[in-house]
Amino acid sequence: MSLTYDDGLDSQLEYAVPALDRLGWKATFFLTEENMEKQVDRWRAVAREGHEIGDHTLHHHCRLAGYSTKRFVREEIAPTERFLNAYFGVRRRTFAYPCGTIELGAGGQREGEERYIDALRPVFTAARAADGDPNDPRLVGRQRYQLQAIAPTYDRDDPQLAIDYLRKALGWGRWAILIFHDVVPTRLGDGDTSVTSHDRILGWIAQTPLWCAPMGEVFSHLTGSVQ
Ligand SMILES: [Zn+2]
Repeated sequence: MSLTYDDGLDSQLEYAVPALDRLGWKATFFLTEENMEKQVDRWRAVAREGHEIGDHTLHHHCRLAGYSTKRFVREEIAPTERFLNAYFGVRRRTFAYPCGTIELGAGGQREGEERYIDALRPVFTAARAADGDPNDPRLVGRQRYQLQAIAPTYDRDDPQLAIDYLRKALGWGRWAILIFHDVVPTRLGDGDTSVTSHDRILGWIAQTPLWCAPMGEVFSHLTGSVQ
């Protein structure tokens, strides 16, 4: 299973990274340049510890109907990659779709998804979508640009949804990817995970025979590709 944290939020540096460090686990942090540029030294320290840094676009736009593949690459992917390459080293990274939007440009759903994947394929090893069942390891190579995940505490700050999802993944022999945003002492709104819930989810994982590793590492392991 993989723990992923989106948007490069300060609360992740304050609460999520120390919780992971206590367990000795590595996770994936999908950064947007806007949020983390003031904290770049702290994020570099996180990367040096062995956590994975992924790309979450420059502006985190949720509505993408106005984009062509070329324009999206030029405005959202290329500048973020230049920034991440400068601070975290040149490499092929993983990507997370902002807002879980997987269609790019106007037209039908299928064309939109293909257009987005065309933008991602030359740059990234894999991409994480949202709202789907845990990933079948045999299909991960083919579905590398639409890996499924859930944000279990987004609507409700309750660890049970994450635990149920991980149980399902264990039962099915699948790869579960969890998404978190702010991890804070007190939940203030949608998307926040309380430190208590976060600790309970991590505690449950610690007692379960699960391999917890960053998304790129699990992807490489399952597909035999070099990271
Ligand atoms: Zn996001």
